[in-house]
Amino acid sequence: MDHGTTARSTPNASTPVDLTVATDAPHTGPAELPISETFISVQGEGKLTGVPSWFCRVSGCNLRCSWCDTPYASWKPEHTRRTLDDLIAEATRSSVRHAVLTGGEPLLFPQTLTLATRLRTLGWHVTFETAGTLAPMPSDGSPFPADLLSISPKLATSTPTPARSLELAGTDAWSARHEARRINLPALQALLDLPIDRQLKFVATAPADLAEIETLLARLRAWHPADIMLMPEGTAEPSPAHTRWVLDACLQRGWRYCHRLHITLFGHMRGT
Ligand code: SF4
Repeated sequence: MDHGTTARSTPNASTPVDLTVATDAPHTGPAELPISETFISVQGEGKLTGVPSWFCRVSGCNLRCSWCDTPYASWKPEHTRRTLDDLIAEATRSSVRHAVLTGGEPLLFPQTLTLATRLRTLGWHVTFETAGTLAPMPSDGSPFPADLLSISPKLATSTPTPARSLELAGTDAWSARHEARRINLPALQALLDLPIDRQLKFVATAPADLAEIETLLARLRAWHPADIMLMPEGTAEPSPAHTRWVLDACLQRGWRYCHRLHITLFGHMRGT
């Protein structure tokens, strides 16, 4: 999401997805998180592209994008329970001082707010990568603990349907749930109203997406064109034609073209 929202891949076609047991978020204690992976890399997308960062990917999501490229944090969640103390010890052993809390959907877990608060107390810069469908606020009334909100609203093309992905045939339950959840205007607005730097990243699959993006933006306040980022969808470098229409759309609207540095550097690889 997020670091992993741009790839058109599908859950492992060889392993049936059990929709009856798929849950939004595994149960965890108040001082632990279900973690699918942590790693050090450079930020691949957005305003902090190229910045060395510690990535912390929670496992569990309230959406099921048809093209999700981190199915191990959504469709087929896998995780290790890690305490916040353990995560902070790992992070601070590294030389980086930027943390990216991603998923899955990190805002499903109030513990991510505690983790972010503790990292910021240690002087870290914290980015939350979220689909913007939830806007939990700290229960003690303290400021939301982030330095950058990287919000990636999901367009209609993200909804899993058999027509979009044969491997997902029979996903009616998640299709309806995803479609009902993918845009939550009050939550999006609540996040945008926070006095925190933000970016709104949209995955551009086809020119028809532009009208949907503009309709959504017209219903939101407190954003600037320079906060809007458009990135070509795909697991590889975009074709020249794809790059061209995305670039033209940005030039016409004052939006930012969002390169995906991690794809250029590493290809479509986990842990990058
Ligand atoms: S919002 Fe959830 S399902 Fe969609 S791309 Fe991100 S992790 Fe995958």
